Parts: sequence; C-alpha cells; structure tokens
Amino acid sequence: MFEMKKITNKPAYRPRPKQIVGYHWFSNGCFDAFVHKDNVLAKISWWACCSRNSEIVGRLVGRPYRDEHGEWVILTGAIAAHFVGGPVNVKTTVEDGAVMARALEQEHPTEELMGWYHSHTCGLDDYSSTDQINQAEWSKPYHMGLLVTLHSDSVTVHAYCGPESKRMHPSAPFQEADCLLNPPFDRHGFVSVCGLQGPLV
Ligand SMILES: [Zn+2]
Repeated sequence: MFEMKKITNKPAYRPRPKQIVGYHWFSNGCFDAFVHKDNVLAKISWWACCSRNSEIVGRLVGRPYRDEHGEWVILTGAIAAHFVGGPVNVKTTVEDGAVMARALEQEHPTEELMGWYHSHTCGLDDYSSTDQINQAEWSKPYHMGLLVTLHSDSVTVHAYCGPESKRMHPSAPFQEADCLLNPPFDRHGFVSVCGLQGPLV
C-alpha cells in the first residue's frame, strides 16, 4: 500500500465566515468545515453513482485555518484513486499515489491534503471499524473524511473529522438523478470515472 507523504502546514489565521456561497457547511461544535458543493460533494456523489458495484476512494484537498474559536477548514477539491479495488476494503496503490501527487502539484497548487473520501454501496450510513482505522491515519483534528452512501434512489454524504472519527452535521443529501443528470466536468470537458476517461453524452 502506497502511503503518500502528508505535508501539514500550521493553519493560518483567518476569521471563519458564517457561510460561503456554493459550499456546504458541516459542523462539530466549534469545528466547522466548508465543502465545495460542485467540486467535492457532487463530484464524489457522481463518481459513487457510476460505481455501484465497487466502492470508490480518493483524497480531499483544501486549506486549514484558525481563528479565536479554534480551527476550521475549507475543502475545495477531490482527487480520485482510480486503481483501487472494492467493494469492502479500499486500498490505495502505488499508481494512485503517483497520480495523486501529480494532481496535488499541478491541479491544486495552493492546497494541501486534508483527508479522504470513500463510498458505501450497501447503504451503510456510518463508518465501519476499518473506516475508523483509516481515518485514524489522518492525525490532525481538522483532517476530514467524507462518506458517500448509496441508497436506492438517493445519495448522502456524511462527514467526519479528526483521528477519532467525530461525526459532523448536517449530512448533504442528493437525489441520484441529480448526480447523473448534472455530472461534474473537468476543465477539459471530460469526466473521469474509476480509471475510465471520456466524453459523456
Ligand atoms: Zn467504509
């Protein structure tokens, strides 16, 4: 299993906003996370909908900040790990490590790794014990985990923070039709799903 080096910078001072247009707000008491709806939530939901038979996994990028109330984060992007195998245990391969390192450098030059995401194809709306172990590898209290749960006609994104897998609220709901009708395109007008790249209808 490839372990990508996590570079963590001390969170810079910046007062947290009450809301950011286009971002979903998750909270766990005094810790807040603003997650981009299109570039993160819709994107990973869409990837998950297109992979109903195997779990997807990847990394989250963004920035950590701090203010008088403590730390808060903004998540701006998601980098898919295309070479993993599902459905129960998701693993990151050497190939994925190289792709992610390049994506972080070339496509997200101002961000750092902020956590991971994966999907549940069986409708389980909470972390498994394996998921908690994976989350614990992210050592900072502000490191995030997003879980995309697929139901028969809807998708829910749950958020967790810190090595103890603290649950955050509120979850972000999607209708599966929304995910499939409004796929997130990258800057080339292409979508990328589970290692396959190509134009969509
Ligand atoms: Zn899981």
